[in-house]
Amino acid sequence: MQLINGKQISQEIQQEIALEVKRMMELGLKQPHLAAVLVGNDGGSETYVASKIKACERVGFKSSLIRHPKTVSEKELLQTVYDLNHNNDIDGFIVQLPLPDHINEQKIIEALLPNKDIDGFHPINIGRMILNLPCFISATPFGIIQLLERYNIETTGKNCVVIGRSHIVGLPMSILLSKNNSSGNCTVTLCHSKTKNLKFHTSHADIIICALGIPEFLTADMVKEGVVIIDVGTTRVKSNETTSGYKLKGDVKFDEVASKCSYITPVPGGVGPMTIAALIHNTLLAAKKEIYP
Ligand code: NAP
Repeated sequence: MQLINGKQISQEIQQEIALEVKRMMELGLKQPHLAAVLVGNDGGSETYVASKIKACERVGFKSSLIRHPKTVSEKELLQTVYDLNHNNDIDGFIVQLPLPDHINEQKIIEALLPNKDIDGFHPINIGRMILNLPCFISATPFGIIQLLERYNIETTGKNCVVIGRSHIVGLPMSILLSKNNSSGNCTVTLCHSKTKNLKFHTSHADIIICALGIPEFLTADMVKEGVVIIDVGTTRVKSNETTSGYKLKGDVKFDEVASKCSYITPVPGGVGPMTIAALIHNTLLAAKKEIYP
C-alpha cells in the first residue's frame, strides 16, 4: 500500500507557482491577486479562508479579504460581487460557502463573471468543462486529478466508482474521470443516497472516490484488493485527543481498508491540501488570462 501524500504534492505545486510568479515579477508583469469574501464567522469557513490567504502569501500573490457579518443582505453581497467583477486589479475571487440561509447561494455564484470564478462553480465554467473547452475546473476535483497524475495512477480502462453527486465534488469528478483523455478514460459509476446495493458497485471498482461526508462509511468488506481510494470526506468530530477539541474524519475506515489498497489518501493530508493548490493554480491561470483571453 502506498499513501498518497497530498500535503507534499500541494507544496510542490505551490513551489512551481511561486517560481512562475517570480518570473512574472522579473518581467514587470502584474502581481496575481486573489480576493476572498467571507460572510459571518463560522469556524470552518474562517480556517479555510485563512489557509487560502496564507497560500497566496507563500506563492507571492496579493490577496484581499472582504468580510461581511452573517446578517448581510443578499443585495449587499451581490454589490460586493459586482465590485470585485469590475475591479481590474483582482484576477479572481471566491465567495466562501456555505452562506447564511437567507442568501440564495446559486444567485451569488451566477453573479460572478466566469473569467473571475476561480472556484469553477459558475454554470458557464461547468458547462465548458463538460464540453472539453478551456474553463476553471472546481478546485477539489482538479486537485484529485493532479494527485492521480502525479502518482502515475493509470485511469484508462479502469472501473471507477464515485460516491456522492454534489455539484462541487462528486458530479464534476465523475465527468473528469470519464473524459477522453489521459487522466480520464474510466468507466464511471456515480453512486448516491438512492443507489441500491452500493457494495456491489464498490467491490468491483479499481478506483473509488468517496465524497459523501459520512465518517468511516467505506469499510474493508466493500472493496477489492489493490483498489485505489481517494477519500474526500472531512467531517469534524469531537475529540479529546486534540487541543482544538475536534479532529477531521474521512469517509473511509482507514485502519481496516488501507491494507487492501494499492494507493490511498489519508485524512487529513490527502485531498484537503490539494484543494488549496488547485485554487492557487486557477488564480494564476486567471492572472495570465489563459482560460478567457
Ligand atoms: P454533499 O453536498 O452533502 O453531498 C453528499 C453526497 O453524498 C450526496 O450526493 C448524497 O446523495 C451522497 N450520499 C449521502 N449519503 C449517502 C449514502 N448513504 N450512500 C451513498 N451516497 C450518499 O457533500 P459534498 O459537499 O460533496 O462533500 C462531501 C464530503 O467531502 C464532506 O465531508 C465535505 O466536507 C468534504 N469536502 C472536502 C473537501 C476537501 O477539500 N477535502 C472539499 C469539498 C468537500 P444524494 O445526492 O442522493 O443526497
